[in-house]
Amino acid sequence: MQMSELSELIADVREQVLFLQELGVDALDVRLPEAEGERVDSLQMVAEAVVFEKAPPPADIGLPKRPTETVKRGGSRIASLPSLRSRTPVQNNIMPKPTAAKPADEPVKVDAPPEPAGSADTIGSIRAEIGDCTRCKLSQLGRTQIVHTTGNFQADLMFIGEAPGADEDEQGSPFVGRAGKLLTDIIMAMGFQREQVAIGNINRCRPPANRKPEPDETAACRPFILREIAVIKPKVIVVLGATAAHNLLQVSTPISRLRGTFQDYFGVKVMPTFHPAYLLRDPHKKRDVWEDMKKVRDLLES
Ligand code: SF4
Repeated sequence: MQMSELSELIADVREQVLFLQELGVDALDVRLPEAEGERVDSLQMVAEAVVFEKAPPPADIGLPKRPTETVKRGGSRIASLPSLRSRTPVQNNIMPKPTAAKPADEPVKVDAPPEPAGSADTIGSIRAEIGDCTRCKLSQLGRTQIVHTTGNFQADLMFIGEAPGADEDEQGSPFVGRAGKLLTDIIMAMGFQREQVAIGNINRCRPPANRKPEPDETAACRPFILREIAVIKPKVIVVLGATAAHNLLQVSTPISRLRGTFQDYFGVKVMPTFHPAYLLRDPHKKRDVWEDMKKVRDLLES
């Protein structure tokens, strides 16, 4: 193997390892093949060797830097954070490039017509129209409160999930439970602060026992997130999990086939990927999500 190929490989492994470490994965029980008579016992050993012995410190390899500023969550502090539109791009020239592009599935054709947004819409006017909503039966099935989209409403990057869970229903914000903590880690691993992106759900009320929203419930609530997309005008939407992807894109393709390929949703790039709650059950899928998020990050920086 050429030295340049080896360097690229090490850089790629190092980036993967750093991401997994960001997400709290300390060790993966992955057996690697023997190489030239010397057995490497685990990916963790490779990680330690690459990160701590052979490689320069992470700050020198061009990974996106986390802002050092301490950010308070919530309240007026959010409004003073910069939009992603004005974010200084990370140093593309030294960013390790993926070594092997995975063949992508063809983009899925979206059959649903765009739902028109009122030209006078604002996030505030949409919320006012939602009001104390009883448009679907989820309003009668034990919700504590309606969970609206939060974050930066001028962001280039938006995350959309399926519906609030128990923590979100209690706190009134999307993605604040364990899965939400993991989503925050993913956002930060991409080089952003959570408050720099917009985060919402297709359904705004918690379904009982965390069941999937039913078609009539999604049909009642979906127009609001579509109108918010029209107001926010994100450059990229990351749609989290099969249910959200199917309900947003109006397709039934399995998420395992949808993920990893940008879908064109009437001019907005949509990257379907696994839901953070799924990653909590199957941490090995974090690598797939990181591959998807690298594509999103690269598109935002292009
Ligand atoms: S899920 Fe949406 S449509 Fe149904 S009651 Fe809640 S806010 Fe209204």
